[in-house]
Amino acid sequence: MSTMKAARLFGAKDTRVVEEERPRPGPGQMLLKVKAVAICPSDVRLWEDGHAGGTYPDHPFVQGHEFSGLVEELGPGVDGPPPGTPVAVTPLWPCGKCDLCLDGMDNICRNMPFPSFPQADGAMAEYFAVPASAVAPMPEGMDFIQAALLEPLQAAVHGVGLAGLQPGWTVAVVGAGIIGLNVLQVARACGATKLFAADPIEQNRALALQVGALEAVPYASDLAQLLPDVTSQPRVVFECSGHPAALHQSMDLCRAGGQVVILGVPHPDVIDFDTRAPRRKELHFVFSRRYRARDLHTAIELIRDGKVNLGLYPVRTYPLEKAAEAMQAAYRREPGILRVVVTME
Ligand SMILES: [Zn+2]
Ligand SMILES: [Zn+2]
Repeated sequence: MSTMKAARLFGAKDTRVVEEERPRPGPGQMLLKVKAVAICPSDVRLWEDGHAGGTYPDHPFVQGHEFSGLVEELGPGVDGPPPGTPVAVTPLWPCGKCDLCLDGMDNICRNMPFPSFPQADGAMAEYFAVPASAVAPMPEGMDFIQAALLEPLQAAVHGVGLAGLQPGWTVAVVGAGIIGLNVLQVARACGATKLFAADPIEQNRALALQVGALEAVPYASDLAQLLPDVTSQPRVVFECSGHPAALHQSMDLCRAGGQVVILGVPHPDVIDFDTRAPRRKELHFVFSRRYRARDLHTAIELIRDGKVNLGLYPVRTYPLEKAAEAMQAAYRREPGILRVVVTME
């Protein structure tokens, strides 16, 4: 029996590295030798609580859905890419058969096992079996950490796509963490000419300016002061922070007839808001949920064409043996570190 190391979550804040049997690729799957797993804030929240919004895991499970690796072995019925190929992976594994998948909304598939959420193991292990349809060869020059960071890029591709962005539009991003920074880069690639950003963390503001924001200020309310002329307000505000106050400020900042695209996961879950301004301005609200399967390929094209650069983002790496420390580090949310990444030799 071949074995491997895997980082399993045994309960709230209890990640342990265990030795266990190495998985075999089933029909339509391939086994990956995992090389990098970035820790998402959603992983941290689950690690902190020990459950996902009241869904408790039925076994100690493996976290991690932002990952990349090398093809190790092809399962029955899979004819490539060959073993040894470096690949990026989308963790979106839709059924392809439900009404939503058939309508092209596979991001909200009704029968989706999302890896790393309770009941479905994720990637923080030496080997991980994935559907062959979920992988794409990494382009020349991309490293495994950047390939893992394609997951939050897919989220930005989807969110910007929902906005139907047109060249020349003014947009604002509230919350310039990795998703917000990716939204800035993707919006710029789609032709948005005036980009604004708000984030209370100084390092994030500096990165926002680096990726094309004209101004970066601590809060969305500061942007409203910067753009006193109502005709110059952003047509789209991307709310990427999840803070109730930021959502309110996004509504105030958005131009009449514009859209607020919500990529941040609101925390707390229930938020009250003043309906007057959004009603009078006839604002559109759209919640952005994950991304679609095809967005992996769009994300790769954006990198390959030099329109998005993920190499700018500061990360901190830990080896798999130190997965528990890595989770602690991600939980501490050190300013300026956009992702903690577990890497494997
Ligand atoms: Zn994620
Ligand atoms: Zn489906």
